[in-house]
Amino acid sequence: TRPDLPPRTVTARVAPLGSRLVLALVEDRTRERRVEAIRRDFVANVSHELKTPVGAIRLLAEAVCDAADDPEAVKRFSARMLTESDRLSRLVQQVIELSRLQGDDPLESPRPVSIDDVTSAAVDTSAIDASTKRIGLVTGGETGLEVYGNREQVLAAVSNLVANAVAYSAEGSAVVVNAKSTPTTVEISVVDQGIGIPAAEIDRIFERFYRVDPARHRSTGGTGLGLSIVKHVAATHGGEVKVWSVEGQGSTFTLSLPRSAVSLGEPRTKPSSS
Ligand code: ADP
Repeated sequence: TRPDLPPRTVTARVAPLGSRLVLALVEDRTRERRVEAIRRDFVANVSHELKTPVGAIRLLAEAVCDAADDPEAVKRFSARMLTESDRLSRLVQQVIELSRLQGDDPLESPRPVSIDDVTSAAVDTSAIDASTKRIGLVTGGETGLEVYGNREQVLAAVSNLVANAVAYSAEGSAVVVNAKSTPTTVEISVVDQGIGIPAAEIDRIFERFYRVDPARHRSTGGTGLGLSIVKHVAATHGGEVKVWSVEGQGSTFTLSLPRSAVSLGEPRTKPSSS
């Protein structure tokens, strides 16, 4: 039981239906109240997280105004304003993505999703950051695999894992995105040789806004939401995400998702010949 969540709430209504018959209506509103509490908590966290970059941009704008006759200082402050506004837009984008996923709805019109396409698009998204840090970012493993689901969601999940692998790795190291099939699933692994995650923190990293080291996180420009998005995508697809990590040596995140009927070799549904 989480002490921060409201206690179990059950209301019962009893109506006599004659001398020996009684109708009892028991309504459990616990889940509803807990979802509401989690939402309230989320909004409070988001507001708090938004205040930091907004405040920083304001201070930097004031600094630019004050330093109008010092072109070097103007350049420096403007560059930092750009970094903060990038962070702000990443945060807004991830909050929107996460609240869409939290709807609890089953996947709408799932279809086969090409893993070759998703992994190469995810690698493209981090290509500039990787080359800035001279990180070798490559894909490997089996080709031609498909999962059954929503392409945008699967891409968001894999892109977050690749972006993290690059962000938490040192210059000159390697990041490998590997695809492998089992009889029922496709496993997409993102392997890095980065800073790793302390064993004591590993259970918490999928929580919203949780970061191992908030100070380090500020320098990577992270939002603390990436892995919650990955966890939600895994859940909506009926899959799972696992992590192995050794501090100082690297991490491997594996997202496993159900294979599509097509990639399992079952016949495609034939269009009707009428
Ligand atoms: P962030 O935006 O801070 O990266 P995430 O939810 O994606 O947020 O990750 C949560 C925390 O987990 C990160 O702040 C970081 O401390 C840790 N983490 C995630 N991926 C890795 C990785 N590949 N290597 C080391 N630490 C990681």
